[in-house]
Amino acid sequence: MLKLSAKAFYEICEHAKRAYPEECCGIILLKDGMDIVRPCTNIQNKLHAQEPNLYSQTARVAYVMAPQEMFYIFKEAEENDMRIKAFYHSHPDHGAFFSEEDKNQAVPWDEPLHPNCVYIVISIYNNREVKDVRAYTWNHRKFVEIPIDKFSMNR
Ligand SMILES: [Zn+2]
Repeated sequence: MLKLSAKAFYEICEHAKRAYPEECCGIILLKDGMDIVRPCTNIQNKLHAQEPNLYSQTARVAYVMAPQEMFYIFKEAEENDMRIKAFYHSHPDHGAFFSEEDKNQAVPWDEPLHPNCVYIVISIYNNREVKDVRAYTWNHRKFVEIPIDKFSMNR
C-alpha cells in the first residue's frame, strides 16, 4: 500500500495536466511523514531532436528526467535527511499501466535502481482529465501493483 498525501496526489495530477500532451515526470520525497513533490523537466523531446536515432520516441510517449534536476533533488534529499519515496510520470491518452519501457527504465540490468521506491503512473486524456493513477513496486523479482491510500494531512 502506498500512503500518499492528498496534497501530493493533487500536485502530481496538476503536473500531468500542465505537461499534457507530453509525459510529465518527477520525484516524491518524504520528510518527517510529509510528501514533497519535486517536478522534473522531461527532456525527451530535446534528446529526440538531437539524436532521433537513439531517442526515436517523443515526449508524447516517453520521458527522460533532466539529469541535473535529478541530481539536485537527490542532493536535497541527502542533505535534508529525506527519503526518495516515489517516482511518477504520466501516460497521455493511455492507461496507467507499467509498460515494458517503464520496467526497463526502472530495472536497466538485473536489479532495480531504486528497489524501495514506488513508481506512480498517471493516466490523463485529451480533456486534461486524470482518468487513473496507479502505483507499482518491486516485489519478488517483478513489479506488482499496490493500492494507493490517499490521506489528508489534517487527519
Ligand atoms: Zn510509462
